[in-house]
Amino acid sequence: MNRKKLNELDPSFKEQVARQPGGEGLRVCFGCKACTAVCPIEPVDKRYDPRKIIRMALLGMKREVLEADFIWLCSSCYGCQEVCPQNVCFTEVMFAIKNLAVAEGCVPPGLAAQKTLLKQHGRLYEVTDFENEKREKLGLPKIVEHPEDYDALL
Ligand code: SF4
Ligand code: SF4
Repeated sequence: MNRKKLNELDPSFKEQVARQPGGEGLRVCFGCKACTAVCPIEPVDKRYDPRKIIRMALLGMKREVLEADFIWLCSSCYGCQEVCPQNVCFTEVMFAIKNLAVAEGCVPPGLAAQKTLLKQHGRLYEVTDFENEKREKLGLPKIVEHPEDYDALL
């Protein structure tokens, strides 16, 4: 790591993550890589490696983690939590990292679009008259959107 990169490190980053709800497990990771071994994302995109993300966070590579698009690849399957001998709860750590990323303005375009849909329709897929007419034919109740509830939550 060159000097410029070293100067960009933020030693407080690990504590910033650990202070987030669910982020505290980061401190006890001993790098066994069991999480990476079971992660379904890592085989299809090598940039996403749970153990590597923890190492990067512990080293203070704040910008490299928060600005990376790969942090949004986690499918939240909780497989890593099942196998972790240290009870790090890596899925929760990823939620903490993503929350920090959003707080720092690092929001992927897809997420912003989802937020807009939630605000407008209260769901990620708009339910139109077309869908409701099909539901009626199947004897299913009509879906009425309540975007105001989600807007209040957001
Ligand atoms: S399985 Fe747990 S202890 Fe092992 S590297 Fe992953 S998070 Fe760290
Ligand atoms: S929760 Fe995320 S990091 Fe953990 S195994 Fe699933 S995809 Fe991988």
